[in-house]
Amino acid sequence: MKYGIISDIHGNLNALTTVLQELNREKIDQLICLGDLVGYGPEPNECIQLIKKSATIVIAGNHDHAAIGKIELRLFNRYARNAMLWTRQTLTKASISFLRNLKLTAIIDDVQFVHATPHNPDLWNYISSTFEALVSFIAFDKQLCFVGHSHVPTNYILSEQNKKVVNHFDQQITIEPNKRYILNIGSVGQPRDLNPKATYATYNTVTRRYKLHRVAYNIAQTQQKMRKAKLDDRLISRLAAGR
Ligand code: ZN
Repeated sequence: MKYGIISDIHGNLNALTTVLQELNREKIDQLICLGDLVGYGPEPNECIQLIKKSATIVIAGNHDHAAIGKIELRLFNRYARNAMLWTRQTLTKASISFLRNLKLTAIIDDVQFVHATPHNPDLWNYISSTFEALVSFIAFDKQLCFVGHSHVPTNYILSEQNKKVVNHFDQQITIEPNKRYILNIGSVGQPRDLNPKATYATYNTVTRRYKLHRVAYNIAQTQQKMRKAKLDDRLISRLAAGR
Protein backbone atom coordinates (compact mmCIF):
# COMPACT_ATOMS: atom_id res chain seq x y z
CA MET A 1 0.00 0.00 0.00
CA LYS A 2 1.31 3.41 -0.93
CA TYR A 3 -0.18 6.35 0.95
CA GLY A 4 -0.12 9.97 -0.08
CA ILE A 5 -0.42 12.12 3.04
CA ILE A 6 -1.23 15.83 3.10
CA SER A 7 -2.02 18.35 5.83
CA ASP A 8 -2.80 22.01 6.50
CA ILE A 9 -4.22 23.03 3.15
CA HIS A 10 -5.82 26.17 4.60
CA GLY A 11 -8.00 27.08 1.66
CA ASN A 12 -5.05 27.32 -0.75
CA LEU A 13 -6.51 25.69 -3.88
CA ASN A 14 -3.51 26.50 -6.11
CA ALA A 15 -1.19 24.64 -3.73
CA LEU A 16 -3.62 21.74 -3.30
CA THR A 17 -4.19 21.26 -7.04
CA THR A 18 -0.44 21.21 -7.70
CA VAL A 19 0.17 18.69 -4.89
CA LEU A 20 -2.61 16.40 -6.12
CA GLN A 21 -1.14 16.48 -9.64
CA GLU A 22 2.23 15.41 -8.23
CA LEU A 23 0.62 12.66 -6.14
CA ASN A 24 -1.14 11.39 -9.24
CA ARG A 25 2.27 10.79 -10.77
CA GLU A 26 3.39 8.98 -7.60
CA LYS A 27 0.66 6.37 -8.23
CA ILE A 28 -0.59 6.28 -4.65
CA ASP A 29 -3.30 3.84 -3.51
CA GLN A 30 -4.87 6.08 -0.88
CA LEU A 31 -4.81 9.76 0.00
CA ILE A 32 -5.04 10.70 3.66
CA CYS A 33 -5.57 14.28 4.80
CA LEU A 34 -4.51 15.30 8.32
CA GLY A 35 -6.78 18.33 8.60
CA ASP A 36 -6.90 22.13 8.51
CA LEU A 37 -8.64 22.20 5.15
CA VAL A 38 -9.76 25.78 5.83
CA GLY A 39 -8.59 28.97 7.54
CA TYR A 40 -6.18 31.66 6.19
CA GLY A 41 -6.73 30.92 2.48
CA PRO A 42 -9.19 32.25 -0.12
CA GLU A 43 -10.87 29.05 -1.40
CA PRO A 44 -12.10 26.94 1.54
CA ASN A 45 -15.17 25.48 -0.22
CA GLU A 46 -13.20 24.52 -3.33
CA CYS A 47 -10.54 22.80 -1.21
CA ILE A 48 -13.18 20.86 0.73
CA GLN A 49 -14.81 19.73 -2.55
CA LEU A 50 -11.50 18.49 -3.94
CA ILE A 51 -10.44 16.74 -0.73
CA LYS A 52 -13.87 15.12 -0.48
CA LYS A 53 -13.36 13.68 -3.98
CA SER A 54 -9.72 12.63 -3.56
CA ALA A 55 -9.09 11.53 0.02
CA THR A 56 -10.18 8.24 1.60
CA ILE A 57 -9.62 9.47 5.16
CA VAL A 58 -9.91 13.07 6.33
CA ILE A 59 -8.97 14.06 9.89
CA ALA A 60 -10.16 17.27 11.61
CA GLY A 61 -7.75 20.11 12.37
CA ASN A 62 -8.20 22.95 14.86
CA HIS A 63 -9.16 25.40 12.09
CA ASP A 64 -11.80 22.96 10.83
CA HIS A 65 -13.24 22.83 14.35
CA ALA A 66 -13.08 26.62 14.68
CA ALA A 67 -14.93 26.99 11.39
CA ILE A 68 -17.90 25.05 12.77
CA GLY A 69 -17.80 26.70 16.20
CA LYS A 70 -16.24 23.80 18.11
CA ILE A 71 -13.29 25.99 19.19
CA GLU A 72 -13.56 29.52 20.55
CA LEU A 73 -11.93 32.18 18.39
CA ARG A 74 -10.26 33.87 21.37
CA LEU A 75 -7.75 31.00 21.28
CA PHE A 76 -6.55 32.25 17.87
CA ASN A 77 -4.22 35.19 17.21
CA ARG A 78 -5.65 38.28 15.51
CA TYR A 79 -4.74 37.22 11.95
CA ALA A 80 -6.05 33.68 12.32
CA ARG A 81 -9.21 35.01 13.99
CA ASN A 82 -10.01 37.53 11.26
CA ALA A 83 -9.39 34.95 8.56
CA MET A 84 -11.63 32.50 10.44
CA LEU A 85 -14.46 35.05 10.64
CA TRP A 86 -14.17 35.44 6.86
CA THR A 87 -14.06 31.65 6.43
CA ARG A 88 -17.18 31.14 8.55
CA GLN A 89 -19.08 33.63 6.38
CA THR A 90 -17.82 32.00 3.19
CA LEU A 91 -18.45 28.31 3.93
CA THR A 92 -21.47 26.70 2.29
CA LYS A 93 -23.90 24.46 4.15
CA ALA A 94 -22.41 21.43 2.41
CA SER A 95 -18.89 22.42 3.51
CA ILE A 96 -20.01 22.91 7.11
CA SER A 97 -21.67 19.52 7.22
CA PHE A 98 -18.55 17.89 5.75
CA LEU A 99 -16.35 19.50 8.43
CA ARG A 100 -18.79 18.41 11.14
CA ASN A 101 -18.31 14.76 10.25
CA LEU A 102 -14.52 14.66 10.39
CA LYS A 103 -12.92 12.40 12.96
CA LEU A 104 -10.01 13.29 15.23
CA THR A 105 -7.77 10.36 14.48
CA ALA A 106 -7.50 7.20 12.37
CA ILE A 107 -5.50 4.03 12.82
CA ILE A 108 -4.57 1.59 10.07
CA ASP A 109 -2.49 -1.42 11.17
CA ASP A 110 0.46 0.05 13.08
CA VAL A 111 0.07 3.60 11.84
CA GLN A 112 -1.85 6.45 13.46
CA PHE A 113 -2.94 9.56 11.57
CA VAL A 114 -3.79 12.72 13.51
CA HIS A 115 -3.63 16.50 13.15
CA ALA A 116 -1.87 17.56 16.38
CA THR A 117 -0.87 14.83 18.86
CA PRO A 118 -1.63 11.08 18.95
CA HIS A 119 -3.07 11.34 22.48
CA ASN A 120 -5.70 13.96 23.43
CA PRO A 121 -5.86 15.15 19.81
CA ASP A 122 -8.57 17.71 20.66
CA LEU A 123 -6.22 19.69 22.94
CA TRP A 124 -4.36 20.80 19.79
CA ASN A 125 -0.95 20.74 21.47
CA TYR A 126 2.25 20.98 19.44
CA ILE A 127 5.09 18.49 19.44
CA SER A 128 8.07 20.81 19.18
CA SER A 129 10.80 19.19 21.28
CA THR A 130 12.22 15.73 21.88
CA PHE A 131 10.70 15.89 25.39
CA GLU A 132 7.20 16.58 24.03
CA ALA A 133 7.73 13.79 21.51
CA LEU A 134 8.70 11.39 24.30
CA VAL A 135 5.53 12.28 26.22
CA SER A 136 3.57 11.43 23.07
CA PHE A 137 5.45 8.18 22.46
CA ILE A 138 4.56 7.02 25.98
CA ALA A 139 0.90 7.91 25.44
CA PHE A 140 0.26 6.03 22.19
CA ASP A 141 1.12 2.49 21.19
CA LYS A 142 1.51 2.38 17.40
CA GLN A 143 4.90 2.26 15.74
CA LEU A 144 4.34 5.25 13.54
CA CYS A 145 2.29 8.42 13.76
CA PHE A 146 1.85 11.04 11.06
CA VAL A 147 1.02 14.57 12.25
CA GLY A 148 0.66 18.08 10.83
CA HIS A 149 -0.39 21.23 12.74
CA SER A 150 2.94 23.10 13.10
CA HIS A 151 3.43 23.55 9.31
CA VAL A 152 7.09 22.59 9.87
CA PRO A 153 8.15 19.15 8.62
CA THR A 154 10.30 17.27 11.13
CA ASN A 155 10.96 13.74 12.41
CA TYR A 156 11.03 12.43 15.97
CA ILE A 157 12.43 8.92 16.31
CA LEU A 158 12.40 6.82 19.48
CA SER A 159 14.95 4.06 19.84
CA GLU A 160 13.46 1.16 21.81
CA GLN A 161 16.96 0.19 23.00
CA ASN A 162 18.00 3.34 24.85
CA LYS A 163 14.56 5.03 25.07
CA LYS A 164 16.05 8.21 23.59
CA VAL A 165 14.29 10.44 21.09
CA VAL A 166 16.26 12.03 18.27
CA ASN A 167 14.99 14.87 16.09
CA HIS A 168 16.08 15.41 12.50
CA PHE A 169 14.80 16.82 9.25
CA ASP A 170 15.74 14.06 6.78
CA GLN A 171 13.34 13.97 3.84
CA GLN A 172 13.68 10.21 3.35
CA ILE A 173 13.49 7.57 6.04
CA THR A 174 13.23 3.79 6.10
CA ILE A 175 11.06 2.69 9.00
CA GLU A 176 13.09 0.27 11.13
CA PRO A 177 11.65 -2.47 13.37
CA ASN A 178 13.16 -1.38 16.73
CA LYS A 179 12.24 2.25 16.42
CA ARG A 180 9.08 4.34 16.66
CA TYR A 181 8.34 7.46 14.68
CA ILE A 182 6.34 10.69 14.89
CA LEU A 183 6.65 12.31 11.48
CA ASN A 184 5.39 15.83 10.83
CA ILE A 185 4.58 16.11 7.14
CA GLY A 186 4.46 19.94 6.96
CA SER A 187 1.83 22.01 5.18
CA VAL A 188 0.37 22.14 1.68
CA GLY A 189 -1.05 25.64 1.83
CA GLN A 190 1.07 27.64 4.29
CA PRO A 191 4.57 26.20 4.91
CA ARG A 192 6.43 27.82 7.83
CA ASP A 193 9.94 26.40 7.53
CA LEU A 194 11.25 29.29 5.40
CA ASN A 195 10.62 27.23 2.26
CA PRO A 196 7.50 28.47 0.45
CA LYS A 197 7.08 25.28 -1.61
CA ALA A 198 4.06 23.11 -0.79
CA THR A 199 4.81 19.99 1.24
CA TYR A 200 3.35 16.48 1.03
CA ALA A 201 4.44 12.98 1.96
CA THR A 202 4.36 9.43 0.65
CA TYR A 203 4.68 6.24 2.68
CA ASN A 204 4.98 2.75 1.22
CA THR A 205 3.96 0.05 3.72
CA VAL A 206 5.82 -2.67 1.76
CA THR A 207 9.22 -1.00 1.31
CA ARG A 208 8.70 0.97 4.57
CA ARG A 209 9.98 4.06 2.78
CA TYR A 210 8.80 7.49 3.92
CA LYS A 211 9.46 10.47 1.72
CA LEU A 212 8.75 14.16 2.16
CA HIS A 213 8.23 16.04 -1.10
CA ARG A 214 8.31 19.76 -1.96
CA VAL A 215 6.70 21.35 -4.97
CA ALA A 216 6.51 24.93 -6.25
CA TYR A 217 3.02 26.24 -7.00
CA ASN A 218 1.55 29.50 -8.24
CA ILE A 219 1.85 31.56 -5.04
CA ALA A 220 1.12 34.84 -6.84
CA GLN A 221 -2.27 33.56 -7.94
CA THR A 222 -3.24 32.52 -4.40
CA GLN A 223 -2.10 35.94 -3.14
CA GLN A 224 -4.20 37.67 -5.77
CA LYS A 225 -7.28 35.74 -4.67
CA MET A 226 -6.52 36.65 -1.05
CA ARG A 227 -6.30 40.35 -1.92
CA LYS A 228 -9.64 40.11 -3.69
CA ALA A 229 -11.16 38.46 -0.61
CA LYS A 230 -9.61 41.28 1.50
CA LEU A 231 -7.69 38.87 3.68
CA ASP A 232 -4.93 40.29 5.87
CA ASP A 233 -1.70 41.55 4.18
CA ARG A 234 0.43 39.66 6.65
CA LEU A 235 -1.23 36.38 5.65
CA ILE A 236 -0.71 37.24 2.00
CA SER A 237 3.00 38.08 2.27
CA ARG A 238 3.91 35.14 4.51
CA LEU A 239 3.14 32.62 1.73
CA ALA A 240 6.06 33.85 -0.39
CA ALA A 241 8.41 33.80 2.61
CA GLY A 242 7.30 30.38 3.84
CA ARG A 243 6.79 31.48 7.43
ZN1 ZN B 1 -2.76 24.49 10.28
